[in-house]
Amino acid sequence: MSKTILRVEDLSVRFRTEEGVFNAVDNISFTLEEQKTLAIVGESGSGKSVTSLAIMQLLAENGHISSGEIYVDDENILNMSSSQVQHNILGKKISMIFQEPMTALNPILKIGDQITESIIEHQGTGKKEAYEIALDTLKQVGIPSPEQRIKQFPHELSGGMRQRVMIAMALVTRPKIMIADEPTTALDVTIEAQILNLIEQLKSTFKTSILFVTHDLNVVADIADDVIVMYCGQIIERGPVVDIFENPQHPYTKGLLATMPTLEDHKGELPTIQGGVPSITQRPGGCYFHPRCPHRMKKCETQSPGVYTVGQQQVKCFLFEGNKEERNDGK
Ligand code: SF4
Repeated sequence: MSKTILRVEDLSVRFRTEEGVFNAVDNISFTLEEQKTLAIVGESGSGKSVTSLAIMQLLAENGHISSGEIYVDDENILNMSSSQVQHNILGKKISMIFQEPMTALNPILKIGDQITESIIEHQGTGKKEAYEIALDTLKQVGIPSPEQRIKQFPHELSGGMRQRVMIAMALVTRPKIMIADEPTTALDVTIEAQILNLIEQLKSTFKTSILFVTHDLNVVADIADDVIVMYCGQIIERGPVVDIFENPQHPYTKGLLATMPTLEDHKGELPTIQGGVPSITQRPGGCYFHPRCPHRMKKCETQSPGVYTVGQQQVKCFLFEGNKEERNDGK
C-alpha cells in the first residue's frame, strides 16, 4: 500500500475584501500518496490555486488559513514557525512550479546563479558542487546545450525552456512533493506535451509525488492518478481518474466533461454549463452549484449537501443521499 505524503484536513482559507471576509477554500480534506499524481481541477474562482498557495504558505497579504491542518510526512506544518517551514519544508520537501516562469524567475540573475543559490541554501554545498548539480539537473530536464544555457538570463530562453528551468529549480533539492500550478497553460500544445512527458518521467526518476492544479481536463486525463473537482472553494467530487472520466457523478463534473472537445466534435458548438462561477462575495445559499444545476431540488437552494460514496467516488450532492455518507459539511 502506498504511503500518504501530504494530508490536508479541514482546510479553510479566508480572504479580506472591501465587502467583508469570505472563505475562498471551505473545509477541504484530501491526501496525496507517494509517487502518485493528484489533480485538482476547477474553473477560475474554484479555490484550486488558493489551495496550493496555502500549502506553500504563499497566500496574498489579504488571505489567511482560518482553520485546518496540513501534514507533510506526518508533521503538521501549520504548527511550525515560519522559519522552520522556510528551512525544513519549502524547497526541501515541497517545491512548486508556476504557470508563468517569468514571474518566478529573477530577470536580472543568470539561470545558473538562480539554481545554484537554491542548492547552496537548501543543501549547504559549496559553489562548485552546486554548479555541477545545477548543470546535471538542466541536462535531466532536457535543456539542450546546458553549459551555454546556464550562463544565460531568463529572457534569452523560450517559454518552454523557461518552464524546464523552473522544473529544474524545483527538482534540485529532490523534493518529495512537487506542486504544479497550471504549468503548461502559457505554452503551445507541442511544448505542453513535452513538459507533461517530462513531469511524468521525473516523477518516476525522482520518486516525487505531484499535486497538479489545472482547469484543463485534457491534461488531467493524461497525467493524473486521482482527481479532485473543486467548485466555489469546496470539493464536490473526487475519485480515481478513470472513474471520474468514465462515470462522473456530480452534475458539475458531468457538465465539465461534456464541454471537453472530442475527435467526433469536428463541427457544431460544444455544450456549456449555463451561468458562471459566482465570485467569492456572491456565493448563493445551499448547494453553491444550484443556480446552474439542471437537477436542483427545493432543498438545494437552502441546504448544503453532505458527501456520499458512489463506487470509488465521493460526491457532494443530494442526488446520492441514499448512499453511504462520508461527511456532512452541513452549513
Ligand atoms: Fe444539483 Fe442539488 Fe446536487 Fe447541488 S445538491 S449539484 S443543486 S442536485
